[in-house]
Amino acid sequence: MNSETVSTIVLGVSVGGFLYLGLLHYLNKKSFHNSEPINSKEDLEKILNEEKERQGIKSKVVVSIRNCKYSYVENIEQGLDKIILKQEHTKRMCLRHELNHIKNKDIGGKKYPVFDQLKYYFYQEPRTIIHCIKSRKEDKF
Ligand SMILES: [Zn+2]
Repeated sequence: MNSETVSTIVLGVSVGGFLYLGLLHYLNKKSFHNSEPINSKEDLEKILNEEKERQGIKSKVVVSIRNCKYSYVENIEQGLDKIILKQEHTKRMCLRHELNHIKNKDIGGKKYPVFDQLKYYFYQEPRTIIHCIKSRKEDKF
């Protein structure tokens, strides 16, 4: 392979990756659009319980709302997970999204950072976004 071919491949992969991430971001936003807001601690408790039941999650889940860059999930210990919800993500669908990661055990290992990132962007995240988009057609929320 000459260097021109290599440059073309690198450019193609970069543009493709950029478009792919843009598409994921767009679909994720679309799945959150017009979702029921969480306005109080009572709302949070109620919606969390409804959404856990909806996805058949039996383990304990605590939610912390923070002023951070993105929402994510942490496993605290066996049977206890924590959702860190970004301030702007205090909506039912965002909670559903994070709970779906818990249900699918998408909570990242730290052993293989590159592999884990690829798995996240090309498998776990699209699977969760598709789940959320499909589920909106099935229920009233
Ligand atoms: Zn996600």
